[in-house]
Amino acid sequence: MVSETDLFRRLFDVLEQHSREQNCGNFLQYHSPAELTALLDLDRENTEGDWDPIFSWISQYLEYGVKTSHPSFVNRMWAGANPPSILGDIVVAATNTSACTYESAPVSTLFEKYMIEQMLELVGFKNGEGQMTTGSSNANMIAMMCARNLACEQVKQRGLFAQRELFAFVNNDAHYSMDKAANILGLGSEHLVKVEVNERGEMEPVALKAAIEQVVGAGGVPFFVAATEGTTVRGAYDPITPLLALRKKYGFWLHADGAWGGAAVMSDSLKDEFMAGLSEVDSFTCDFHKMLGSALMCNVLLINHSNRTLGAVLGGGDGSYLFRDTEDSGVRDLGTTSLQCGRRVDSLKWFLDWKYYGKTGFGKRIENYLELCKYAEECVHSYPELELVTPRVSFNICFRYKVNEEIANSFNQELRTRLYQQGLALVGIAYIGELLVMRLLITNTNVGRQEIDQFFRQLVDLGQEMAA
Ligand SMILES: *Cc1c(COP(=O)(O)O)cnc(C)c1O
Repeated sequence: MVSETDLFRRLFDVLEQHSREQNCGNFLQYHSPAELTALLDLDRENTEGDWDPIFSWISQYLEYGVKTSHPSFVNRMWAGANPPSILGDIVVAATNTSACTYESAPVSTLFEKYMIEQMLELVGFKNGEGQMTTGSSNANMIAMMCARNLACEQVKQRGLFAQRELFAFVNNDAHYSMDKAANILGLGSEHLVKVEVNERGEMEPVALKAAIEQVVGAGGVPFFVAATEGTTVRGAYDPITPLLALRKKYGFWLHADGAWGGAAVMSDSLKDEFMAGLSEVDSFTCDFHKMLGSALMCNVLLINHSNRTLGAVLGGGDGSYLFRDTEDSGVRDLGTTSLQCGRRVDSLKWFLDWKYYGKTGFGKRIENYLELCKYAEECVHSYPELELVTPRVSFNICFRYKVNEEIANSFNQELRTRLYQQGLALVGIAYIGELLVMRLLITNTNVGRQEIDQFFRQLVDLGQEMAA
């Protein structure tokens, strides 16, 4: 028998080596799915007690995986992970519990409650509440659900049958999780109104007002508006203050989707610049696993209402086999305000990151990302081969390689694929209207000016080669 201690030692040797190599060489050894399937030998039989093949698959996982902390990985809204959160996640895996009750997860429960209090204070919600969810997709849905249940008091018992029609309003570039929420919650996509944006990608309050008036005129109920704080592709921040004025008039629930750009709460100056009025909205979601670098997944949803809203809206069924009456201890089981039953412990990594970097450290990180993004914008301007497709408004750069318009989309797609398959860089792509753009996001503490220079140099060299 191999003891657990031996297994951990063996694993840590492998991890240590990986950690040393993860920022060197290429970020990926690319293999096609067919090649990789063969390499992984998926059908290989193994016998219980034989650890060698297990470690061999672990090595392959590391060898053929994408090195997400590598500076060439500029594809996604996250990269690598903060060391404290990695330590936390390893401990969470090794101890396996569910963060639904104090009984089964006492320390996690207190960490989560503590962090929610910290965040409520940062954002400026008084007497609010919150919960860690599985990500902002889920958090957006829960916020919309709170709004729905408040707008239709009987919805929990009667469903949406024979109700007045409900309408939700979002930025035309809002995240696709809003469409999913409209589906799950029984609204239907026709009741999710996508509001026109201006040339910066921000929802136009005038257009929103007109869309609401139209719905109200037809007898509908405008129950929910989401301000996207940092749109996924362009990085636009919907202005909150004019939406607060509209809320006063129409009484909807105002949610702020800060999955991406909400990280600006860590810097007082950026918070004021991008999200003035945030403390007045009804709910706010922020992903700690994006710009702030906690290990995936790490999200918080905050509600700016009485601390009974989540329980009232989300609770249901008989949980008495699981939840304890907590009046005596004063600590409510977190599962009672969640849509999940089992909950992975995400609080440990979050708490450790918070204690290690603090608001000051995170604030500096975000400010530095913004500086680097401005630098990347200058780089785009410095190459005659490149152009910005939309103005940079915050942390996103959307650009493309300039070629004849007829082939521009396919050329940029191919350029991006070659960068990836040659292991040079993984950069995002997206459509803005009809135009395919490359979206550069800097969310990696290993990226500085030099890495940005190199990224553009390689991209332009390859583009020139292709264009020749
Ligand atoms: C990433 C993102 C989401 C989805 O967040 P997940 O945590 O991945 O579910 C929602 N909204 C915006 C604006 C995003 O950028």
